[in-house]
Formats: sequence, structure tokens, C-alpha cells
Amino acid sequence: MNSRLERELTEFLTSLKEEGLYKEERIIESSQGRKILVGGKTVLNFCANNYLGLSDDKRVIRAAADAMETFGFGLSSVRFICGTQTLHKQLEQAISSFLRTEDTILFSSCYDANAALFEPLLGEEDAVISDELNHASIIDGIRLSKAGRFRYKHSDMNALEQALKASASARRRLIITDGVFSMDGDVAKLKEICALAETYDALVAVDDSHATGYLGETGRGSVELCGVEGKVDIITTTFGKACGGASGGCISGRKPLIDLYRQRARPYLFSNTLAPAICGGTLKVLSILQEDHSLRKRTLANADHFRNLLKTAGFDLIDATTAIVAVMVYKEAKAVEFAEKLLNEGIYVIGFSYPVVPKGKARIRVQLSASHTTEDIERAAKAFISVGKTIGIITEL
Ligand SMILES: *Cc1c(COP(=O)(O)O)cnc(C)c1O
Repeated sequence: MNSRLERELTEFLTSLKEEGLYKEERIIESSQGRKILVGGKTVLNFCANNYLGLSDDKRVIRAAADAMETFGFGLSSVRFICGTQTLHKQLEQAISSFLRTEDTILFSSCYDANAALFEPLLGEEDAVISDELNHASIIDGIRLSKAGRFRYKHSDMNALEQALKASASARRRLIITDGVFSMDGDVAKLKEICALAETYDALVAVDDSHATGYLGETGRGSVELCGVEGKVDIITTTFGKACGGASGGCISGRKPLIDLYRQRARPYLFSNTLAPAICGGTLKVLSILQEDHSLRKRTLANADHFRNLLKTAGFDLIDATTAIVAVMVYKEAKAVEFAEKLLNEGIYVIGFSYPVVPKGKARIRVQLSASHTTEDIERAAKAFISVGKTIGIITEL
């Protein structure tokens, strides 16, 4: 590396720090959970995707360990060479049955699932129509395909309809949306989206990473919550959030589509198979979810309670009904300061800023879990209110 490049990088990184955009990683010295050890201090954790509190669930850990004992540590292969075990087929079947789809294909992550989603299905003569707030992995997946690109204003159904009209000459059209938008916590208007797709003969794909496991009557996600099961052609999701939080993801949907991905999806063909422990642990999560709906109810009740406490105190929240509570701060440096002061109070949250959210829209994203107790939530709200007043985010009522 020459000295000019080194100087340029140093200047860039320094400017990130000055703008409050530099992401520091805090080191956790314990397992993931409601309480974690950070820098020698035990804090209450409100920034994990551990919506159901299953990340350190003893039953899941046991099942993962058993799978590892029986099927080994790794496969040292991609699926189609010698990386498919009975466990992989069982997990694919269990997900299809849980999501009520025809078939499922596993990936190392949902990032990979989204990287795989577009390129095999859509060519130059096709179009993909995407919500402007879709997850980065969707944006990157779209970049890998040659399809025409249409982006519509967030959840704006008129804008979506305009895009459907503008893409009328395409051979195939695919509408893609997050089920729950990760930075705002709102749910996609899937009923309206599916109705428009039917009118204009487009396919619908939903990335339900922030919903699978806890949203909807039986935890089947935003697709269930919005009553559009059977109308969504493709679901992608992760096992890295509510479903145990280890890693892994999938595409689930109509059988011919899944068959296509097995033949042509590059992240599937050229990347290692899922480790047995992940398959065994995720299978256990799915069986817990079918028997026990108390976890998901607690997640949502906890989120409602926290949201109400902050709303009453005068915080500016993005309107949502999921386990994500976005507390708007706007200024990047202020969001960093807010999160730091909360950590001093024993509440671990993260300030999100560009490029994760638009510039000038910095926020604290609070994520509630079934594992939080009412006391945890009230303690966190109290800390938000006292720090919020100290740094001028809310005023004395
Ligand atoms: C978290 C997330 C992903 C990435 O999932 P991984 O399995 O961690 O790669 C993809 N899409 C959305 C909408 C997400 O929220």
C-alpha cells in the first residue's frame, strides 16, 4: 500500500468519525440474551434481533449439539456435490410446512438468498420493482441481474402502480418488498401489493427476515399477518433473527421456482452447505414455534408497552406495530451520544446513521424480545426519558 492511499484512507475514516458515521463494534463477553456482558459490565440488551429470546435457549442449544454429534461439524462441500444430508432435506420440508409453501431452498444467509433471487429468474427483457427502503441485500441482489429496475417510494401504492404501468412491456415482472422494514419497523402493505400484482400480472416476493417466527397469528410472518398466504410467490427469510439467531436463510415458494434456484442460483451452487448444528438448532426452533405461541405474544406485548411509555414521554417514534421501535433523533452525532449515555445507564441500544438510514434521519432502533421482563422495559424507558431530557431530545413535560 503506497503512502498516498494510506493517507486517503486515514482522511476518509477520520471524516467518518467527525460526522458521527464511524461504526465502532462493542465486544460482548457472554452469550446473546436479555442481559449481556459488555466491557466487563452487565447491561440490558435492546439491540439484537433475538425477538423470541431463542438465541441462548437450552433446548435449541441441545438440538444443535445433538445434530453436530450425529452429523459432524461440517460438510466440506456445496449441496450438489456431497453436501446434502437428511438434516438439510428435513429443514427444507419443515420450513415449507411452516410457511405453507410448496418447497424451500437453503442458503448460508438471507443475504445470499437475496443475492440468488433475481439473476436466475429475470433477464434483460424482465423488470424488478422494488420498494425504496428494501434491505441492502435486495438492492445488491437486483444489481446482479440484468432486469430493468423500477424503484417506488416507500409503501406508496400509487407509485407502485405507476411502476407497473411503466414496466408493461416486460416479459416477467417481480415486485419485491421487505415484509417488515428493518429501520422503521413498519409492515409492508401486502394486501394492496398482491392485489396490484394480480391486476398487472406480476410476481410478488417478500423478504420476511424481520417477521418470520413472531408476526402473524401463528408466527408465520407478515404474509400471515396481512392475510396473503398463497398470494405471495416467493418468500425469503433468515434464521439469523427470531429463529434462533445463528445463521442461514432460504427462498421458499412455488416448486418450479425453487427447482430453478437449485439449478442456477450461484450462492447455492458455489458456496458451502449449512453446518449440521445450524440445521438441527433451526429445526428445534420451528418445532417450538408450532407448540408455543406465548413467546411471540410476549414479544409484541413488550414492544407495545415500550412504545406507549416513550410516546407518552414525547419521543418522536416511527409509527409501527412490530418488535422494532425507531426513536428518531435526526442528527448523527446526537444519536451516537444518546446511545453512549444509555449504555452508561446499563441500556444497550445502537444509534443508526448513514448509510444504513438516509443522512439526517439518524435514530435509535430499539428491539424488544420475549425475554425482556416488564421491569426491564420500564427501566429502559426511564433511562430513555432521563437521558433524552439531558441531551435535549425531549423537553420536560
Ligand atoms: C437481516 C436481513 C437480511 C440478512 O439476513 P442474514 O441471514 O443475516 O444474511 C436480509 N433481508 C432483510 C430484510 C433483513 O432484515
